[in-house]
Amino acid sequence: MASEFYLIAQYFTRPTHHTQLGVGDDAALISISQGMEIAISADMLVAGTHFFHDADAYKLGWKSLAVNVSDMAAMGANPKWATLAIALPEVNTAWLAEFSRGFFACADAFNIDLIGGDTTRGPLTISVQIMGEVPIGQAIKRSNANVGDEIWVSGHCGDAALALAHMQGKLTLPADAFASCAEALHTPQPRVALGLALRQIASSAIDISDGLLADLGHILERSNVGASLILSHVPHSAYLADKLADGHRDEGVTNTHDNNILSMLLAGGDDYELCFTAPIEKHTEINNLSEKLALPLICIGRITANAGLIVHGFNDEILDFKETGFDHFS
Ligand code: ADP
Ligand code: MG
Repeated sequence: MASEFYLIAQYFTRPTHHTQLGVGDDAALISISQGMEIAISADMLVAGTHFFHDADAYKLGWKSLAVNVSDMAAMGANPKWATLAIALPEVNTAWLAEFSRGFFACADAFNIDLIGGDTTRGPLTISVQIMGEVPIGQAIKRSNANVGDEIWVSGHCGDAALALAHMQGKLTLPADAFASCAEALHTPQPRVALGLALRQIASSAIDISDGLLADLGHILERSNVGASLILSHVPHSAYLADKLADGHRDEGVTNTHDNNILSMLLAGGDDYELCFTAPIEKHTEINNLSEKLALPLICIGRITANAGLIVHGFNDEILDFKETGFDHFS
């Protein structure tokens, strides 16, 4: 491999902003601000599993950091430092230049220092570790949702899954719809400003990486509660609404929706929106926050004492997850 040191110097060394010692020594040194504790998370992206081998290198660079930033947002932590361990099958400098440009675009957007990592030869794999600060005791955990709390979601659900389905030839989107959904899939926008504001508001939070029902399910499990959701409140784009209506027309039956599209909405991954719970008294404050951040925040249901997750369908029928292929969520 062209000197590993050359690659690190050329593509992964940038000035830092809040780091005592960055790339270049055996370890990096950071200082934690007074009164803060550190939140740490790691995520690995493997070619062929988490992205296509021919994925756009810039977008892959962005996404590999963004999915980690999203975990900080979900904790109410302020992302500050990251490390990058990367295995490359070959040295492709054009690819590396684009990858690092995308990675640093995300780093710059959230004021994150890249402080170290590892570079080696192997099947294309990208492993990022991120560290952020949160005032001691104020991190938003999955385990603190309370009965009666409202359940909220930011942005839209299902667009990333819709783009993926288009790429896999499972459905066809109009060009403008695909462009918009592909942005959600390839260059997700982690909700850091929201996460920071939610420290004072939310009782629990999670970022949606595996799908709304699965991720909300983690909150329910950790908090020992259940939930009741209203399907018609789950926020989705006009593109997804169109596809839902297509299913409806195809079947020629009133009030029937395409279950595949429904599953993108409820179980599609990779959206990187936040799902959070908050006491009902915070309802107005959350609406105001939505306006301030220019980010839709929609209340989709309530936390219940009964264990399990109930979804009220478009006609207030209780959705049968077994029939619709959602059995692993019931
Ligand atoms: P060591 O042999 O001590 O593990 P390396 O030679 O692997 O150190 O790395 C040299 C320096 O470059 C270290 O500071 C390491 O953290 C940093 N580094 C290596 N790869 C990357 C990368 N992909 N991105 C950022 N920093 C990296
Ligand atoms: Mg060393």
